[in-house]
Amino acid sequence: MPSGALRPVGWMSYLGSKVLLMSRHTPDRPVNMESFFPELLPFRRESVRLHPRPGSPTCKDSSVGGPLLWPAAEPWPVCREEHYDDSMNSTSQPQPAAPMVPIVQIHRADAPGIPFPEGKDLLQVLWCPYSHGEFCYPLPQVHWRDCSAVGDVLPTPEPAAELPRNWYPGPCVVHPEQVTEYPSWDLSDELRDVLRDRFDALSGETGLLYSYHLAAAPGIKLGGYPGWTQDPVWPDCEGCGSRMDHLLTVSSWEFDGESWRTWLPDEDRTDENEWGGQRWDGPAHNPAGLCLGDAGGVYIFECRTCPERPIGHWFDCS
Ligand SMILES: [Zn+2]
Ligand SMILES: [Zn+2]
Repeated sequence: MPSGALRPVGWMSYLGSKVLLMSRHTPDRPVNMESFFPELLPFRRESVRLHPRPGSPTCKDSSVGGPLLWPAAEPWPVCREEHYDDSMNSTSQPQPAAPMVPIVQIHRADAPGIPFPEGKDLLQVLWCPYSHGEFCYPLPQVHWRDCSAVGDVLPTPEPAAELPRNWYPGPCVVHPEQVTEYPSWDLSDELRDVLRDRFDALSGETGLLYSYHLAAAPGIKLGGYPGWTQDPVWPDCEGCGSRMDHLLTVSSWEFDGESWRTWLPDEDRTDENEWGGQRWDGPAHNPAGLCLGDAGGVYIFECRTCPERPIGHWFDCS
């Protein structure tokens, strides 16, 4: 149940001289999923919602769009692929090589349940925000590190001024929260047919739609099910041929005008709209300032079987 009114409002609450970073909590689902839909139990997955909010993370913090703990001994990655600024389709122009930009940095302690490679405790994801390839996707890189081996830190370069601004996140602190998910777009047609009558009955009674309100979390998250905007496209590993695992979804928005009803955290249920109801388009809606195509998402996958953990990626939008 929403309980924002009982919790302190704002970024931080002060308890004596100690500053407490406020966490974020997704409300409990209004229905007991596994009693209503026991068939979903084998498809249950845990994800980590990052709940980014604008802030000033340092290179030592977990962050979205913040500076990275990057070793001075390693050159900053530069994308040398053929690419375009597709932010204005009609005037798409070839763009020069550009330094990649930080997307996500997460310490293992902030990512419960996400399988880090042995000996690594930091995940770093960067991408080049220009358009690449047939589907005009940003091109990501994934780095796993051992923080204790980083040594001197290379300052994170400022993003090049000419980069398409909505295609990479502004600096945000994160409030990781583990949540349980069930397949939305990834629900098989067979199981959807089995559950259809119960989905309809629940919707008739509560107005809640399984896919929007109850299945997989929207927004930027690790693990769980990809927050697809369109039909799923799971990449296969080129090394071993098996389907890759979902590592990270970077969505443009944390929720939309429907999904906020169940996914807006308790702590953000404080803003009122002009009619005195709750706002869904307040500061929690698009904290990183992203607009990936038409409010789409970028999905990053990895093969956890092949030792070098190759990655795959996909981009879609509505
Ligand atoms: Zn590029
Ligand atoms: Zn593989």
